[in-house]
Amino acid sequence: MISLDCYRNKRVGVIGLGKTGQAVVAALREGGAHVSAHDDFLISGDQYNNLELFDFDWSTMDFLVISPGVNLLWPNKNLAVELAQKHFVPIINDIDLFQSQVLGKKICLTGTNGKSTTAALIDHIFKRGGKYSSIGGNFGNSVFSLEANSEFYVLELSSYQLESCNILGFDTAVLLNIRPDHLARHGGMAGYVAAKQKIFGNFGTESKAVIGIDDEHCLEIGRFLKTIKQPNIITVSGEMVPDLGVGWSEESLIDNRSGSFVTVCAAPPQLDGVHNRQNIAAAYAVCVANGLNGDDFCKGLCSFDGLEHRQEFVDDIYGIHYINDSKATNADAAEQALRRFNKIIWILGGRPKENGIFSLVKYFPRIKFALLIGEAAEEWSQFLEANGVGNEVSGTLDVAVSRANEISKKYQAEVVLLSPACASFDQFKDFEDRGNRFKKLVGDLRRKAVDFDCDK
Ligand code: ADP
Repeated sequence: MISLDCYRNKRVGVIGLGKTGQAVVAALREGGAHVSAHDDFLISGDQYNNLELFDFDWSTMDFLVISPGVNLLWPNKNLAVELAQKHFVPIINDIDLFQSQVLGKKICLTGTNGKSTTAALIDHIFKRGGKYSSIGGNFGNSVFSLEANSEFYVLELSSYQLESCNILGFDTAVLLNIRPDHLARHGGMAGYVAAKQKIFGNFGTESKAVIGIDDEHCLEIGRFLKTIKQPNIITVSGEMVPDLGVGWSEESLIDNRSGSFVTVCAAPPQLDGVHNRQNIAAAYAVCVANGLNGDDFCKGLCSFDGLEHRQEFVDDIYGIHYINDSKATNADAAEQALRRFNKIIWILGGRPKENGIFSLVKYFPRIKFALLIGEAAEEWSQFLEANGVGNEVSGTLDVAVSRANEISKKYQAEVVLLSPACASFDQFKDFEDRGNRFKKLVGDLRRKAVDFDCDK
């Protein structure tokens, strides 16, 4: 547990009281700070939401901590941000507080997709290799619940968190990839790229940068880091072997940092798919840059189980594989599943993202039939129809899974894939809730299949 006692007697405002905001309030109070807290969407008067904004004493406030969900700039500046700026109160976030307090090395990762998988993989390999490592940030519990004396902190950081980070200067910073996402919140692509790029801010001469170069934005950022002679930069790829970097040739991970190819290992089956090659290459670069050797890496890689809700195999019912990819909340993530599987009954939809599923058209020949759920259903049904994909609007996940089971034989499908390319919030608490529901529904199908077999 991280204590924030260096802020004893400071006067602090906290805005946004979701999971992160509540953890900030608790940690600051525990450390002896005087905390005023507010959330626009909660009824005021409880232990957390103790004040209305206009009752904050802005003139004596030392700093304001904002939660990732609070709009700093776009689509409109949050009123608390405006008031803080008017009174010259510095605005920081939970990661700044954490950084100001802990000594361990911070390994911070961002990217549109692959953050959690790569962070969990690194943490797992570190632990297997005998390092004292903790994982947090946008992953799992609040950073304040982590062990106080870890040697390494592996932190997954979202663009929302990076936007309001000030201290930066991480010991190792990783940018995996950038594809359009969260555009409204960042005022467009330029704002989104700028937030992601902050991961390399305030770099020291000892800091290490790892950057995936499989998309144009990251390629550009990688070139920029090289032109400013950023030392210790390792470029990584899931598609080829970069010059003086780490990547893939055929089925092998190759370390080319010294300019000659050294074969490291192949990808384990639980991390199949081109997208995971990028994640594995990045994890390798981080591990060797932080004192592990190739052997430690390969042992850790092979014993990593993969994460739930990411192309997770759920069951094989009468030869049809059910795959839970609920974490695919944007088209780029869903693309990874569509390119991996064939003869698919595709369950998709939810709250749509700005760019829809236009980028997925080239994979449509792999889809036998699509079942649509959530807010995107009607519009995307027409789009699929216009592009030759038979589909129907199921509305809910329950109906979609039951329909998938009914029609999979008729369409000679091999896979029933939940890969929604949408956020889940229109019908579920979060992507985990959606994925768990899918698994429960598949479990029900399995029980019915067993009963049916017994009756025969
Ligand atoms: P994040 O934490 O960035 O959301 P996850 O590791 O949780 O990433 O994976 C989310 C989704 O993105 C999954 O559907 C997964 O298959 C896909 N994915 C994972 N790694 C990558 C990658 N490097 N590039 C593109 N998609 C990826």
